[in-house]
Amino acid sequence: MCSRHVGRFLPYRNGLSSMPPMMRALELIGSDVENFECPRCGCHDRERHLFLFMQSLGILMRLSEMRVLHFAPERRLGEIIGQAEPAEYVRCDLMPSSPNILAVNIEQMPFGSQSFDLVIANHVLEHVRDDKEAIREIARVLAPAGCAILQTPFSPVLKQTWSDPGISSEQARLQCYGQEDHVRLYGRDIFERFEACGLIADVRHSDDMLPTIDARQAGINRLEPFMLFRLAV
Ligand SMILES: [Zn+2]
Repeated sequence: MCSRHVGRFLPYRNGLSSMPPMMRALELIGSDVENFECPRCGCHDRERHLFLFMQSLGILMRLSEMRVLHFAPERRLGEIIGQAEPAEYVRCDLMPSSPNILAVNIEQMPFGSQSFDLVIANHVLEHVRDDKEAIREIARVLAPAGCAILQTPFSPVLKQTWSDPGISSEQARLQCYGQEDHVRLYGRDIFERFEACGLIADVRHSDDMLPTIDARQAGINRLEPFMLFRLAV
């Protein structure tokens, strides 16, 4: 994101060795924990990946025509989107860390229906108490021809999305969902789950979208697909 060359990206915690055994067994697809953080600008692999996806689809070029709603905005990506001068750009978070970010609960948004052309929530829904309510809200605020980018970690072997209110301690969440502040682990039913709430998935493989990008050099997880959603007709 800072366009600097680095010797390597820093791992998340201790990299693969600190990933809970169950997450390894369930083949969790999410961040690249070995090549995670840029030592120069601090950007994470999922921010780099999303930037490359958006660039590849030409979304960055079309931002000036778009009304954009960005949840938990990544700093560098937020700057790039802001510089493109979208028709409207709203950054929000449940617990904002800066004055230019609005306090918004994704499960109950203070925006009118059909008021955004692009909604971005990159690794957000796995933290949200009622994700179905959040997805319905995203569908509500999307304009008819709009789209949502909703990257979310998931297990490609788990048949059903898994959540249990008894899994409430930080240690239990880390072991069962992969991170202390996650509240579920999505499984292979993830896209049916979104569809039931009004969003149809248009999922693309990273290799198909970024054929000229060296995943190792860019520090991205090539197993993480691009999760684009449109309104169900
Ligand atoms: Zn950097």
